[in-house]
Amino acid sequence: MTFMPVEDVYQVMESASASVPCPECGAPTAEGELCDECYADDTDPLSVPDEVVVRVCAKCGSYVRDGGWTSHDEPLPDEELAVAAVKDALGLHVEAREPRVAVGVESRDTNTLEVEVEAVAYVRGYRVEDERAVRVRLDYETCPTCAKRSGGYYAGVVQIRAEGREPTDDEMDRALEHAYGIAGRDYGDRDTFVTKTEEVRGGLDIYMSTNVSGMQIARNMTQEYGGSYDDSATLVGEKDGEELYRVTYAVTLPEFVPGDVVDVDGTPLLVTHNDDVLKGIDLRTGDRKSFSDASPKRLGRAADAEPTTVVSVSEDDDEMQVLDPESYETVTIQRPPFVVVSQGEQAEVVSTEKGVFPVPPSESNKNS
Ligand SMILES: [Zn+2]
Ligand SMILES: [Zn+2]
Repeated sequence: MTFMPVEDVYQVMESASASVPCPECGAPTAEGELCDECYADDTDPLSVPDEVVVRVCAKCGSYVRDGGWTSHDEPLPDEELAVAAVKDALGLHVEAREPRVAVGVESRDTNTLEVEVEAVAYVRGYRVEDERAVRVRLDYETCPTCAKRSGGYYAGVVQIRAEGREPTDDEMDRALEHAYGIAGRDYGDRDTFVTKTEEVRGGLDIYMSTNVSGMQIARNMTQEYGGSYDDSATLVGEKDGEELYRVTYAVTLPEFVPGDVVDVDGTPLLVTHNDDVLKGIDLRTGDRKSFSDASPKRLGRAADAEPTTVVSVSEDDDEMQVLDPESYETVTIQRPPFVVVSQGEQAEVVSTEKGVFPVPPSESNKNS
């Protein structure tokens, strides 16, 4: 914006119709009111209170603005907070044009800061200046969110469990990542936080301040790992006429995870993926297979594979003889393409109740 020479315009208007003198300076006016110059002289462009009180949370640094508690990643320094509060409390005269305002902290002692406000504006074409001091008092208390946190408040509980086994460390770490991610993602929603987490027999419990965040964790986990969740609500009270429910989300992750060796209707399968569909590698042929409605039985884990000596490889390469690492007997097994060995070399195999099966070299090293 650039300043326009409005003074000239006013002077032209005045001389055209002026007849009655201004009571202050005697300049000609239309009806004996204050002339524009005297009006500007009498006008304070700024309206600011002498004192501003800011309610600040002593724990998190959040402060009350427009009746609500603000959200910050980190507490604002007191100086910035005081300047922000004064800016919020500032008003300008309706006729102030092209205002420029500077706000800065002059001094402070403990919880009181002296803030200086300087303003320059144009009123009816005349430049006016204003300079004011505002005392900002920081009033410390505990915000409702911090009160809830320290009170151990929660409304959603996520129970991470698995069918027929304990959840793996990876699965529990992932559940915690989701919990803290959801709590931290949108700090505009200050009411979402992780109240506590607890490793319990059979898995992990995560306490969330809201039930919707609990549901998000349950949903994310079952989308990533398969399995399912159930929810059950308990009425815990009432607030502002609304019933308050605490909801438990019981997540059951699938029994089999990647790296498991299972038997699916006679197929020895190394599990690579398991949600709605069970996917894996047939350990006899090396073929990738999927089963949508399988009831697999556990045979072992690829991580438990042991190296064993290859006694011989058949001429057409389809079969090989190896030592069973458990019985030390020589057994003839199918050789899938992922096993590339010659007689006398070592292969990684798992010995199971359904026989001895080779595993791909990378799988035998996983999780070991
Ligand atoms: Zn005047
Ligand atoms: Zn707080």
